[in-house]
Amino acid sequence: MPDCNSNYESEINDGKNARNVKCKFCSSTILTPSTASFTSFEFQLPLIRQSKSNEQNPESECVSLFWSVSDMFTFQNVGFSNTVGNNKYLTCADCEAGPIGYHDIPSKMSYVALSRVVHC
Ligand SMILES: [Zn+2]
Repeated sequence: MPDCNSNYESEINDGKNARNVKCKFCSSTILTPSTASFTSFEFQLPLIRQSKSNEQNPESECVSLFWSVSDMFTFQNVGFSNTVGNNKYLTCADCEAGPIGYHDIPSKMSYVALSRVVHC
């Protein structure tokens, strides 16, 4: 487990998010408590930006802790940025900061990176 997410365990209650999941930049609520399931796997996610970027090859980092959501209607607030392959990147619907995670088109699952949001 990466050190940068060392406090994440307190955010998990019975496998779900214990608190609200909010945008780091504008505090818009993305998910309400107990609506997303914790999951861990490795994924290369482009670095977060506060405005939409049309770069073809943005720098990315390996992210491994996610909230998974099986139904887009579970989100209080979420936007899409660009589509790459089978993935659509998720952004904050209010300030367009992102990607905060991604949507997997074939499985219809959405994954929000714990490191890209705040919990409160
Ligand atoms: Zn925002």
